[in-house]
Amino acid sequence: MKFGGTSVGEADCIRRVADIVESNRAAGDEVAVVVSACSGVTDQIIAVADEVIASKEQPQIGTLLSAMRTRHTRLLEETAPDYVDEVTAVIDDRLTRLQNILTAVYTLKELTPRSRDYIVSFGERLSAPIVSAALRQRGISSVALDGAEAGIITTVNHGDARALPASEANIRHRVAPLLADTVPVIMGFMGATEQGVITTLGRSGSDYSAAIIGAGIDADEIWIWTDVDGVMTSDPRIIKDARVLDDISYLEVMELSYFGAKVLHPRSIEPAMQKDIPIRVKNSFRPEVPGTLVLRDEHRELRVVKAIALIEKVALVNINGAQMIGRPGVAKTIFSALAEREVNVMMISQGSSEANISLIIDESHLDAAIAALDPIVKQGVVREVTYDRDVVALAVVGAGMAGTPGTGGRIFSALGRANINMMMISQGSSEVNVSFVVKAGDGKRALQVLHDEFRLSENSDE
Ligand code: ADP
Ligand code: ASP
Ligand code: MG
Repeated sequence: MKFGGTSVGEADCIRRVADIVESNRAAGDEVAVVVSACSGVTDQIIAVADEVIASKEQPQIGTLLSAMRTRHTRLLEETAPDYVDEVTAVIDDRLTRLQNILTAVYTLKELTPRSRDYIVSFGERLSAPIVSAALRQRGISSVALDGAEAGIITTVNHGDARALPASEANIRHRVAPLLADTVPVIMGFMGATEQGVITTLGRSGSDYSAAIIGAGIDADEIWIWTDVDGVMTSDPRIIKDARVLDDISYLEVMELSYFGAKVLHPRSIEPAMQKDIPIRVKNSFRPEVPGTLVLRDEHRELRVVKAIALIEKVALVNINGAQMIGRPGVAKTIFSALAEREVNVMMISQGSSEANISLIIDESHLDAAIAALDPIVKQGVVREVTYDRDVVALAVVGAGMAGTPGTGGRIFSALGRANINMMMISQGSSEVNVSFVVKAGDGKRALQVLHDEFRLSENSDE
C-alpha cells in the first residue's frame, strides 16, 4: 500500500492510514507500506535548496527548516504520543543532517544532481518514521526503512533513476521476511546506486517505489491510496463531471499517465504488468469506495474511448526542409542528436511529403533540443526548425479504439464544431491512444468538448 502526500499530510490522515492498515491486517492480509513526503514538503525542500544556492549572504538555513520541524513534530505528537521522545530524536537528527548538507552546498556554491537527490529525499525520511510510529501506537509492530534498506538499487541518473533488476531479489530478502509480524514503512521516491549513492526516481516517484516493492515481494495486489476515488475519465480539477472508472488496463493507464494524468506515475505500471499484479487506486479519505482496478485486460467497461488526458508543459518542434525528401538517414540524424542531449520526445508525426517532421517534447527539454538541432540546420541537413511553447497535448485513450473505425473522425468533427484547430496529430502504435496538439489557450476547452462528445461522464457502455 502506497500512501501519497495528501494521505499523510495531516494528523487525521495519518490516523486514517493506521485505520486502513489495521483493518487489513485484522482481515488477515500482510501489508507493506510505502509513503511519500507529507504534502508540499518536497516542494519546500527544493525551494530551500534553490534559495541556498542563489543567496549571496549566509542564509538562515535553520530558520528555513524550522517550519518543517514544527509541522512534523506536531504530526508525531498527535498520532503517536507514546513515541514522541524516540521519534523526535530521529526527526531532529535528520533535520540536522539536512542543515549540514545545505550549509555545505552554500559554502561550495555547488548543487550537483547527486547532492540534490540526497537533499530532496528528506521529505520521505521525515514522514516514514512518523507513520511507522503511528502504527506502533496502535499496537502494530512496524519498522521504517529507507528505499535502499528495502532493497531498491537504481541506475545512476540522478533525479530520474530507474530500478535495476537486482532490486527484486534484494526486496524479497529484506522486506518479505518482515511481513508475517511487522509492517515495514518504506520511504518512497528514493533508492541508491550499487555504490550506495542516494538517488531519486523522478517527481511523484513513490508510485513507482510501490510497484517495485510490490513486484519484489510478489504482492497479490498493489494499492495506491490517494486523494480521489480512483482513475477518472479526465483530470477532475479541470473536468467537473469526470467519472471514476471501475477498471482500466495497464496499457491504457500507462498512456494516460504518460500524458499527464498525475494519479499514477507512468513508470509504476511496468513492474506490476511484468508480474501481472493488479493495481488498485483508492481514496484514503473514503476507503469504503471500491476505487479503480488496473489489470492486464479491462473487462467491465466496453467503451471505445475511456479517458482523456491533457499535458501542459510541452513544446512543439517543427523541422522543415525539402532536403529531407527521399534522403535516407535524416530522421536518424535528428533523433540521435536529440537522444544525445537526453531530450524526451513524446510524440512524432511526419508528413507524407517527408518535408516536415513535428515533435512534441517536454518543455523543460526545449533548450537542449535547440542546442541539438541548430547544428543540423547549419549543416544543411534540414532547412529550418521552429519552436512553439504555447501548446498543449491531449491523449484520447481506450483499448476499444483499435479496430473501431471512426474515432479519429469524431475527434476531428467535435473539435471542428468548437472551432479548435489541431496543430498536430499522432496515433500510437499500440492503438490505445490518439494524441494531438492544440494551442495552449484551447486545451481545457478541447478536453471538455471531447469529454462531452464521448459522453464520458455517463456510466453506460456506449
Ligand atoms: P498523491 O499525492 O496521492 O500521489 P497526486 O496529486 O500525485 O496524489 O495524484 C492525484 C491527483 O491526480 C488527483 O488529485 C487529481 O487531481 C489528479 N488527476 C489528474 N488526472 C487524473 C485522472 N485521470 N484520474 C484521477 N486523478 C487525476
Ligand atoms: N515526494 C515526492 C514528490 O513530491 C515523491 C512523491 O510524492 O511521489 O515528488
Ligand atoms: Mg502522486
